[in-house]
Amino acid sequence: MTLSVLLGLNGMSDWLAMLKPVLTVFCLTALWMWETFLPFAESSPNRWRHAGRNAVIAILNTIILGILFGVATVGVAAWTTENQTGVLNWLNVPVPWRVLLAILLLDGWFYVWHRLNHRVPLLWRFHRMHHTDTQMDVTTATRFHIGEHIIAATLRLGLIPLFGVTAVEILVFETLVVAVTMFHHANVSIGRCDPAFRCLIVTPRMHQIHHSRLQPETDSNYSVLFSFWDRLARTFRMRQGNEAIEFGLDEFEDDRWQTILGMLKTPFAARGHNETAKESLRTERVTDEKGFD
Ligand SMILES: [Zn+2]
Ligand SMILES: [Zn+2]
Repeated sequence: MTLSVLLGLNGMSDWLAMLKPVLTVFCLTALWMWETFLPFAESSPNRWRHAGRNAVIAILNTIILGILFGVATVGVAAWTTENQTGVLNWLNVPVPWRVLLAILLLDGWFYVWHRLNHRVPLLWRFHRMHHTDTQMDVTTATRFHIGEHIIAATLRLGLIPLFGVTAVEILVFETLVVAVTMFHHANVSIGRCDPAFRCLIVTPRMHQIHHSRLQPETDSNYSVLFSFWDRLARTFRMRQGNEAIEFGLDEFEDDRWQTILGMLKTPFAARGHNETAKESLRTERVTDEKGFD
């Protein structure tokens, strides 16, 4: 039995089935080394403990999502291809264009989904676990509450037949997302190259703004893969200069929210006592980018 069959990706070559796990390990290792030897901000003394906790969350999420949605996602994608439903099948364009359009459709949805997570109170309860991280590094890319993942994966099951994407296109998109999200969460800097890179993709400097404690900055830069969604929707924001940004959420300042149990309990915490404080932060002046810094 081939690996692709074992993973439920019938008809897909083994190298393609291996693409995502291999690239995940490669990006994690390469970016961890980069953060170790050339960090953007000084590394915290509890860096390993922080990474270990985020890694446990990532492993739990991978197992639960694999059990709940692995076969279902591939099954719905196979049904979509068989019945030729959805936008991409109706357009009937050559394969390279199909793949590019599939990536754009899925990434556009990710932008909308991320923005909804900040706008809808119930979704924010789950998504805020990603924002309670006070030290951003490559492992922050994996710090998502399982509740957020379950809601997202359920909605995606309905979107696959609407978009008309195949299992291979989803896999290619997910692989790109893993590489880019690990990169833009990493505690690294690409210095003067950042403005050029963020013309196309989300860079560390751009995503650090999204993790800022200042509410107007948190409410910006929602893009996941391509940065142009924020420019199109006028939610793109940068700071002039390169000063350090304070990460986290004021209402989850206490260390207990950084433990594995604390992270899992984050959605169920009482409404933050400083909702008022957050409101007042909305009025704080934050410099919009008038051009690239
Ligand atoms: Zn967010
Ligand atoms: Zn993030």
